Amino acid sequence: MQYHESMIELVGNTPLIKLNSVTDGIRATVLAKVEYFNPGGSVKDRIALRMIEAAERSGELRPGGVIVEPTSGNTGVGLAIVAQQKGYRCLFVCPDKVSMDKINVLRAYGAEVVVCPTAVDPEHPDSYYNVSDRLVRETPGAWKPDQYSNPDNPRSHYETTGPELWEQTDGRITHFVAGIGTGGTISGTGRYLKEVSGGRVSVVGADPEGSVYSGGSGRPYLVEGVGEDFWPEAYDRGVADRIVAVSDKDSFQMTRRLAKEEGLLVGGSCGMAVVGALEVARELGPDDVVVVLLPDSGRGYLSKIFNDEWMNDYGFLEEGGSAVARVGDV
Ligand code: PMP
Repeated sequence: MQYHESMIELVGNTPLIKLNSVTDGIRATVLAKVEYFNPGGSVKDRIALRMIEAAERSGELRPGGVIVEPTSGNTGVGLAIVAQQKGYRCLFVCPDKVSMDKINVLRAYGAEVVVCPTAVDPEHPDSYYNVSDRLVRETPGAWKPDQYSNPDNPRSHYETTGPELWEQTDGRITHFVAGIGTGGTISGTGRYLKEVSGGRVSVVGADPEGSVYSGGSGRPYLVEGVGEDFWPEAYDRGVADRIVAVSDKDSFQMTRRLAKEEGLLVGGSCGMAVVGALEVARELGPDDVVVVLLPDSGRGYLSKIFNDEWMNDYGFLEEGGSAVARVGDV
């Protein structure tokens, strides 16, 4: 019989898929590492599994323990799936600006979600930060993974994403491009690829315009999951050879092209990373192999990036962009 013991066995080993259309005019090979093939639908399953297993080994997480983390998105889904399979409770803290859909996904996987007001100072007892700290203090058996400072976040990529890419490209990868959120993906994968190639692989970070990684002040942008207004410990500031800043408009237009032209319904940080990858690939020759990591699926962004009205409100659609056709128009 061919089966897996549980969903956990399906974390990682995601496919590498060649981009054929958005690469028009580019001589280098551009390959996408498509992370929505993970069971929770994102790259974050990798870190969830590694962080939980390391905490089990160190004794920080004991049988019947409770995982407490401020998260509303992909990391929560990854933690919730691994936790349910291993018998832990999950208690997540989200700001109230998070969509009901995202909260319902976490609850569907069995997590408990505490929603905090956004409109209070970080020092307020009800703030997102204070509530999660209080829950950790007051919940017996609580353990907080803290993806922003947990070394098992980059380590999971050093041990899985990096070796997978080296093997899948038969050692021919020349450039690795990824967005930077906590910095775990680029730091762990980048470090592995540099070590195994003797420094030959070039590591490129893609970052939303305004984020600190590309020299911004932390001003807001709309692409989700990447960019920061502070420097997390999980990010190795020496790993990237180059950082490319990408606008929201370019990120979202590329995200739509990936669905329409490459069959890849992916999230906005994927479009952003591909814009960065193409900027690099444009300068390269036919022997170069650029790998760009696509963190999650586009399903979570249907009412934003894939909604013409939302895109139009922000001026992200070109003149004559595809408005919704009404019955009678077609
Ligand atoms: N894209 C999305 C959608 C994410 O959720 C994340 C994680 N915050 C990233 C990109 C960036 O990954 P990392 O945290 O490893 O830098």
